Amino acid sequence: MFTITKEVYFCYGHRLMNHGGKCRHLHGHSVKAAISITHENLNDQSMVCDFSEVKDCVEQYVNSQLDHNFLLHKDDPIITSLIQQNERFLAIDEHPTAEVLSKMIFTHLKENGFNVSEVALWETASACARYQE
Ligand SMILES: [Zn+2]
Repeated sequence: MFTITKEVYFCYGHRLMNHGGKCRHLHGHSVKAAISITHENLNDQSMVCDFSEVKDCVEQYVNSQLDHNFLLHKDDPIITSLIQQNERFLAIDEHPTAEVLSKMIFTHLKENGFNVSEVALWETASACARYQE
């Protein structure tokens, strides 16, 4: 089994509206996502796949959906204010945790034909959430 891992970096704001601690307040993260692709055999260029193909697919999604965006649960009452202020945001069905974001990135890669085995999202230098199937 061969695995390659590509890292991408991006920023987002969010809040976890029902969190009991400081995560309920508006704040942001500068994160690293590490995307792992696994294949039993190498292709005719002796690669799992080209790193740039993984990068292009991830960055297309990250740049359009997550980077410098504000990620919120769809029921977050602050959405009304953001609409009034003409601010950008992304409302999702779940709380916008690192766990959920890693699954969103995983799903995008899988839907685009990559044999993704894991997405790890480093929310801070010491805290990482991983999604695998
Ligand atoms: Zn946070």
